[in-house]
Amino acid sequence: MKRAKAISVLGSTGSIGCNTLKVVEHLGDIRVVAMAAGRNTEKFVEQIKRFSPELVACGDEACAELLERETAKLDKRPRIECGEAGLIAVATHAEADTVVSATVGAVGFIPTLRAIEAGKRIALANKETLVMAGELMTAAARRSGAEIVPVDSEHNAIHQCLRGERTSEVRRLILTASGGPFRTWEREKILSATREQALDHPNWKMGEKITIDSATLMNKGLEVIEARWLFGFDADEISVIVHPQSVVHSMVEMIDGSVMAQMGVPDMKHAIQYALTYPERKTASCERLDLALVGKLEFEDPDLERFPCLSLAFEALRAGGTMPAVLNAANEVSVRAFLDGKISFGEIAETNAGVMREHRPGAADTLDAVLEADSWARRRAIMAISPAAATY
Ligand code: MG
Repeated sequence: MKRAKAISVLGSTGSIGCNTLKVVEHLGDIRVVAMAAGRNTEKFVEQIKRFSPELVACGDEACAELLERETAKLDKRPRIECGEAGLIAVATHAEADTVVSATVGAVGFIPTLRAIEAGKRIALANKETLVMAGELMTAAARRSGAEIVPVDSEHNAIHQCLRGERTSEVRRLILTASGGPFRTWEREKILSATREQALDHPNWKMGEKITIDSATLMNKGLEVIEARWLFGFDADEISVIVHPQSVVHSMVEMIDGSVMAQMGVPDMKHAIQYALTYPERKTASCERLDLALVGKLEFEDPDLERFPCLSLAFEALRAGGTMPAVLNAANEVSVRAFLDGKISFGEIAETNAGVMREHRPGAADTLDAVLEADSWARRRAIMAISPAAATY
C-alpha cells in the first residue's frame, strides 16, 4: 500500500473537505481528480477553479446548471454530474487511488461502499457509513483489498497506536471525549439547552450535525460503533473517557497494562494528512503540541444519566444487526428536528430511544436490509416528532 497520489473528495465544501484541500495544498504532490459537494455552490466553484478536477458532482439539476454556467469560461472545464449517480461517479473515478469520504450522514453510504468495492483507499470521515453498515463495508473491503484509514481523530489515534502491535495483545480501546459544551451542566439544564448553546463546542470547530452529536455524546456513541468495525473489538473491549483538553486523541491498553496514547493539537488537518500519507509521514502545517503550555490533562468517567445517547449506542452495538443503523437514522432525524426548533435538546435522546424500543433488529448483511432499517427508523422518528407529518 502506497500513500495517496490522486484523490476524490466526497463533501469538499464541508469542514473536513475544506481541511482536506488545505492539506493537499500543503503537501503539494497530490492531484484532486474529482470532487462532490452539496449546496454551497459559491465555495464549490472557488474550489473547482483552484484544483481543476476532471469531474465534479453536486446535489441536483439546478445546482448542476449553475455549475455549468460558472465553469463555462474555464480553460479546463470539469465534467458535471449530479445526485447519487454523481456521488458514485466521483467515488469510483478511475484515476483516484484514494477517496476522502467526508459527506455528512447517510448520503455518503452507497458512494463510499462503491469506492470500497472498487478497491480504493478510503480516508473515512463519514462515521455514519460504518455505523449503518459496518458488516457490509468491512466485508466488501476484505473482498476488494480496499484499506480504510480513519480520519475521525479518535480512530486515527487508535490506528496510530496499533501500528506494529498484535491485536491479540490489546486489552481494550479507550476513546477520549471532550465532553462537549454541557460537560459540567446539571441534567435539567441540559434537557432544555438551546440551539446556540449546543452549537458552542469548546474545542473543535465542526459542522452542525456533529457538533450537536458532540453535545449529546451521541458522537462518541457512534464512534464506539465505528471503532468496533474498524478494529474488530467487541462492545466490552471499547471504553470511553472524558478528557476536556482534547490533547490525548485516544488510547489503546495492552494486556500487560501498558497504555499507548496518541496526542496532538485539536486540528483535523493532522488526521487528514495521516490518512493521505500513510504509511509515510510528512511534515505538517499544524501547530505543534506544547504540553507545558497545556499544563494539565484531566480525565473523568462519562455520566450516562446526563448523556443517555452514549448508553443507547452501546445498547445498539450489543443488540447488533440493524439496530445501529436504526439508531443512526433516528438520530439524524432528531438532530435535524432540534436544529429546526421542532424538539427540545432532551427530546433528541428520547426520540432515539423510542425508535430503538420499537425495533426488532434483523441481520444487516445486505444493502436492502440496511436501507430498509434506515428508512423505517426515519419514518418512525418523524412520526414521533410530528405525528401530522407521518402521512408523507
Ligand atoms: Mg471524533
